[in-house]
Amino acid sequence: MLRILQKFGGTSVADLDRIQAAAKRVKQEVDVGNEVAVVVSAMAGETNRLVNNATQISSGYDTSEYDAVVASGEQVTAGLMAIALQHIGIDARSWLGWQIPILTDNIHGKARILEINTEVLSKKLSEKQVAVISGFQGISSDDRITTLGRGGSDTSAVALAAALDVDRCDIFTDVEGVFTSDPRIVGKAKKLEKITYEEMLELASLGAKVLQTRSVELALKYQVPLQVRSSFSDADGTLVVDEDKTVEQELVRGIAHSNDDAKITLIRVDDRPGIAAAIFGPLTDSNINVDMIVQNVSEDGKATDLTFTVSRSDFDRALDVLGKSKEELKFQRLIGDPDVTKISIVGVGMRSHAGVAQKMFTALAERGINIQVISTSEIKVSVLISSEYTELALRALHTAYGLDAS
Ligand code: ADP
Ligand code: ASP
Ligand code: MG
Repeated sequence: MLRILQKFGGTSVADLDRIQAAAKRVKQEVDVGNEVAVVVSAMAGETNRLVNNATQISSGYDTSEYDAVVASGEQVTAGLMAIALQHIGIDARSWLGWQIPILTDNIHGKARILEINTEVLSKKLSEKQVAVISGFQGISSDDRITTLGRGGSDTSAVALAAALDVDRCDIFTDVEGVFTSDPRIVGKAKKLEKITYEEMLELASLGAKVLQTRSVELALKYQVPLQVRSSFSDADGTLVVDEDKTVEQELVRGIAHSNDDAKITLIRVDDRPGIAAAIFGPLTDSNINVDMIVQNVSEDGKATDLTFTVSRSDFDRALDVLGKSKEELKFQRLIGDPDVTKISIVGVGMRSHAGVAQKMFTALAERGINIQVISTSEIKVSVLISSEYTELALRALHTAYGLDAS
């Protein structure tokens, strides 16, 4: 007997037929004697619809009411899944975040899970009742509904898997696993049999939305045995594992892209000690994170150009904050460009190999794609390019690193 957790994403519960198909997968596990906890997302498209409703009335909405609205999609699917299970003879009940409870902080819209009380849930599972849990939501210490950020059902699933000490956590989605790149853009992308927690963490944080970043952090921390697989086929998925369990150390395991960044350039800013602090200080004070940075060498020792990226959602505010500091920073011009894409190659094998980045630069140069900003870490290289070249760049790099499916 195993204890397992099955998470079904939006496409996998998109309508009643799919909910019933997912219920059959749950039944298969129950039939072999396993204890099963199920985490569900809202039906595909539903959260977007709810977000629109919440934000249309007022842009200055109360974030706790926003959460009350957007969390509701998962309530519906949890109830429907419990009904579907009961209909095929399985003992099941739905659980909302507050009923468990899944305690979070009170940062509405992107709350973090603090604690999960699994006493009752665990007892019910051992009595062979399937627990169907609404993903994405929790409750704060002041008794308000919270949500965990877009894609947050993955995090609900992994956090519950850790708290319930499951033997397996299966993430059912609309692709067959984690691929070398987004299979919807790169037709030749290959499904990976295994990927390390570390590589998955980089890919997720660099834009591969197949798993929410926070869910991978938790999986790594609590060593949750994670598998990403398709709810539409029985094919083996991708196992997310520790580094020593992977078969081979690939130089580049995968390529991710993100359209969540925007570029800002300050033209001819004073070149003096303290200038970086003077620029980035006010941005930090306004809670705006800066990601990639490049500073040009100044030709005359007096002024230089500085380029950096911020999250696209912070773009207007960042321009505003910098515009107000024009006198102090003495820059000539402020230029903003939201039409940029960050492309990143990721692989643990990069640690011990030189020349990995060079191949990236060459492949992009051969296609006439200009690199605007570069940033690196031990296991990744990211470049910023104009958004219009996203698909071309992804496919060119995929081929250059020998990742294409044969
Ligand atoms: P769910 O609703 O099941 O949570 P998501 O839409 O959040 O599904 O995530 C699955 C999607 O992630 C896929 O449809 C795919 O387009 C995208 N994706 C991006 N990068 C990758 C990758 N490297 N491997 C697999 N899927 C990826
Ligand atoms: N329904 C939420 C969203 O669309 C959470 C999730 O699907 O993971 O972001
Ligand atoms: Mg998702």
